[in-house]
Amino acid sequence: MGPEHLDIAEMTKGLITVKSKQELACMREAGRIVALTFAELGKVIKPGVTTGELNRLAEEFILARGGRPAFKGLYGFPASICTSVNEEVVHGIPGLRKLNNGDIISIDIGVEINGYYGDGAVTFPVGTITEEARRLLKVTEEALYAGIAKARPGCRLSDISNAIQVYVESRGYSVVRDYVGHGIGRNMHEEPQVPNFGRPGRGPRLRAGMTLAIEPMINMGTHEVRVCADNWTVVTRDAGLSAHFEHTVAITDAEPEILTRL
Ligand code: MG
Repeated sequence: MGPEHLDIAEMTKGLITVKSKQELACMREAGRIVALTFAELGKVIKPGVTTGELNRLAEEFILARGGRPAFKGLYGFPASICTSVNEEVVHGIPGLRKLNNGDIISIDIGVEINGYYGDGAVTFPVGTITEEARRLLKVTEEALYAGIAKARPGCRLSDISNAIQVYVESRGYSVVRDYVGHGIGRNMHEEPQVPNFGRPGRGPRLRAGMTLAIEPMINMGTHEVRVCADNWTVVTRDAGLSAHFEHTVAITDAEPEILTRL
């Protein structure tokens, strides 16, 4: 059977794309808009602000820079960013909810520009948060960097996963299993899946030019989650706090390049 009989989606399934220099330049631009949008949101996150206001600000900011808010309409998602407060893990829908002093809010932003994607997440404190919550945020961000440190040639995919899990569990928290990171490039979600848990030394060998969205979602209590009645918002089963940090990272022959950081 000649290639004309093969289904392209089937052929590319399981393949990890390696990006050219020019493609990486495009992804750098997408990542930069993600990072700039987070900086902009960071200035306005405070008690009294609604998640809908954050969504509108982010959308306008991304469009003004020539980008497209990539989550809008993706699988039918109804907004430009995801806003997940306190026990909400991911995929919270922005709306009329007002942020309160002591809340934490996880914001996930995707941007497409010139056909390439960037994806990042940050959990922000709202006003003054408890010492417990502050530690969860710190450990989750550090876990992301522990994972990124393994995003280099010579490592295998699950070395990233394992580094995150070990870091998090040694500090008494749990890793969400049901949602994972992913390859990214010409699509928001590409192969491979990047779990935040697992034994090291497994999965594909990492190569320069691969681009991954690494995104630990870390819970204070149980790792178990459930989806709410809106069919989007994911919450912890025990209603404990959850944090989420994400960067889009390019594997290089030297240090990993973080594309969603200024
Ligand atoms: Mg992602």
